[in-house]
Amino acid sequence: MLVDDLADLLGPSGWLADASGHSRDWLDRYGTPPLGVARPATTVEVSAVVALCHAAGVAVVPQGGNTGLCGGAVAGEAGGVILSLSRMAQIGPMDPDSASVVVDAGVVLADLHQRLEGSGLIFPMHLGAEGSARIGGLIGTNAGGSQAFRHGMMGDRVLGLEVVLPDGAVWDGLRAVQKDNAGFQLRRLFCGAEGALGVVTRAVLQLAPAPRQQATALLAVPGWEALVQLGRLLRSEAGEFLAAIEFFCDFGLTLAERHVAGLVFPLQSRAPVYLLVGSVAQIP
Ligand SMILES: Cc1cc2nc3c(=O)[nH]c(=O)nc-3n(C[C@H](O)[C@H](O)[C@H](O)COP(=O)(O)OP(=O)(O)OC[C@H]3O[C@@H](n4cnc5c(N)ncnc54)[C@H](O)[C@@H]3O)c2cc1C
Repeated sequence: MLVDDLADLLGPSGWLADASGHSRDWLDRYGTPPLGVARPATTVEVSAVVALCHAAGVAVVPQGGNTGLCGGAVAGEAGGVILSLSRMAQIGPMDPDSASVVVDAGVVLADLHQRLEGSGLIFPMHLGAEGSARIGGLIGTNAGGSQAFRHGMMGDRVLGLEVVLPDGAVWDGLRAVQKDNAGFQLRRLFCGAEGALGVVTRAVLQLAPAPRQQATALLAVPGWEALVQLGRLLRSEAGEFLAAIEFFCDFGLTLAERHVAGLVFPLQSRAPVYLLVGSVAQIP
């Protein structure tokens, strides 16, 4: 029986019959009880789990930090096995020459930021869920974040991938070449595929030079039209110094104040919309 085979394969730390904590999405809106949670520790184990489920005709749902907001990381009507990458969280090696790093799919984004501190390089992706979201989930959703308009989406930062395909075969596309025009760019297919084409197990990520100076501003804006005009002005005037843009509305702020304990809004006046602007410079 599949459940027994998975338990034998992964042992007590790798197979959770009790799926609580993994079976519902972040907003507790989606998710039916799965057969269990597989927590493999290696690509070989991921491959074996996927092959067993494939042979049994059972769905596999890859799960990273489970912060996706549309139910993609939990089981649907058909049930299935949750495949959590949380035990695969190695960072490295880092290559300063190509400004790239090899990471396991289970690495939490904030842990990568922390590891790169002092290296002169950064991974330029920031989003509210970075303390929980994992590299595999960021790739599965092709995540954006506040720096996307300058540094691109997650798929734009992925140089290479290792993926376990639906029958358990391992595709080794762990290349670290930026100017790579050798045939089809297969890695791009997996970015934004929500795990439908395979389970990402490792990735080579393109890093960027750490800025020498940075500043952040929060602007209160009288309306949507003014917000768009302001964005256009900033882009034309600040050019390459502009590193991040994110807007939020006063309704969202009111909800956050109601539900997030200790939240302090730093501006004295309120407005319909707000713009968070980040700038960077390499000038010492
Ligand atoms: C407070 C907050 C702020 C957010 N801000 C942003 C934002 O600014 N920009 C943005 O784009 N998103 C944002 N999100 C949404 C979410 O954080 C992102 O979609 C993130 O990429 C999900 O990562 P995760 O590890 O939690 O993935 P999960 O939710 O676990 O999974 C997401 C999808 O990826 C698949 N997947 C997971 N791991 C793998 C893998 N190893 N291989 C293949 N597929 C996999 C899953 O099956 C699922 O379909 C935010 C969410 C929250 C809660």
